[in-house]
Amino acid sequence: MSALDQLWVWNDPAIKDRLSWYLAVAENRKPAKFRIARTITTALSLADASEDALWHELERLTPVFLERVLRIRDKGEPLGPTASRPHLLDLCRELAQRMLRHCNFCRWNCRVDRSAPAKLGTCKLAAESRVSTYFHHTGEELVYRGRLGSGTIFFTSCNMRCAFCQNGDISTDKDNGMRVDPRTLATMAWLLRMEGCHNINWVGGEVTIHLHTIVEAISLLGDGLASPSRDDLRTALRVKNDWSLYDSLPASAQYGGAFNAPMLWNSNFFMSDEAMRILRVLIDVWLPDFKFGPGRCAITLARTPRYWETVTGNLELIHRWGEDLTIRHLVMPNHVECCTKPVLEWIAEHMPEVPTNIMDQYHPDTFCDPSGEKFDPRYTDIARRPTMAEIRESYRYAKALGLKYETITHEKGLADIFI
Ligand code: SF4
Repeated sequence: MSALDQLWVWNDPAIKDRLSWYLAVAENRKPAKFRIARTITTALSLADASEDALWHELERLTPVFLERVLRIRDKGEPLGPTASRPHLLDLCRELAQRMLRHCNFCRWNCRVDRSAPAKLGTCKLAAESRVSTYFHHTGEELVYRGRLGSGTIFFTSCNMRCAFCQNGDISTDKDNGMRVDPRTLATMAWLLRMEGCHNINWVGGEVTIHLHTIVEAISLLGDGLASPSRDDLRTALRVKNDWSLYDSLPASAQYGGAFNAPMLWNSNFFMSDEAMRILRVLIDVWLPDFKFGPGRCAITLARTPRYWETVTGNLELIHRWGEDLTIRHLVMPNHVECCTKPVLEWIAEHMPEVPTNIMDQYHPDTFCDPSGEKFDPRYTDIARRPTMAEIRESYRYAKALGLKYETITHEKGLADIFI
């Protein structure tokens, strides 16, 4: 057993049941999905195939892949050798590159060619990805931060426009941070895991809009980025933002002698079906942020149409797939009735067993901070912290609905004074 396994939080069956695959990969008892994807070959010539043919091949291989995941998970079957190229991971990489040329990574479905941009989509990005910073995140949920942190990589820009964004410096400034190619990105992930991080936490801004770079980086990790060069490390270290020095712990980063780490998708979940289908092969645990109710709040506060149907659709999908996940919901001032309650009701109706973190740390930020230069008076109703009564009512409602929220919400031992 390692540091993560020993934490008290796993004594809650609701947590352990829902995150058992993630924990097994984090502890290197099982290989991450991206490692399994490399054991499944395709006879398709990827560069020559039409995009339709590539999707068709993904449809064909996904059940084969899932069956192998189940045999490894439930029957203890060994990983098996890497397949000859191209394999399923190569197929995912090729599909992400094709999608970039008519971008449909997310529900905006902008259809712009980000590889040779004459026009930009809602996220304002071309092909380049930038990382603002990355580090051992010790503020995430205990199941993710463990003792040595969640290996969190923050990308710039976003496909939503939340006026209150709690990471506005990153999401509203697409040129923040450092340009990364897949090799630098893979080096960042490698470094975090070698230093003991329990997972690789892909986040932003929004992460979906960087799908092509991330898939390519995961692919390089699968190829055994065994020891990045001095130059790789020097480049990657430029935006690493850890306060402590960490020992190198190679044993905590390997399964069967090769790099291993659970991939965590920390996202607003405003993704396209196509992005979901690729990610199903790569992601070990999902961390969706479920913000707004079914009314107009996603439009008025985030200028995002079709929010409810998209996010609930994607949540239903990963739930039906039997994926590991926890949900986050941030309680906003004056939005308990229109957002918090409908969100909690939906979770209670569709996936009541999924651990849900009801977060109380909202603070007015970005366009909602009355003391900031960017303040927009249209957002006066959310220009304050939630009251204790609003937080207490949110918890009361979750409890009445029978949600599994208490362990994951109160584990820092602060919030339970509100009950
Ligand atoms: S990632 Fe989304 S917002 Fe950005 S160009 Fe693609 S479809 Fe549009």
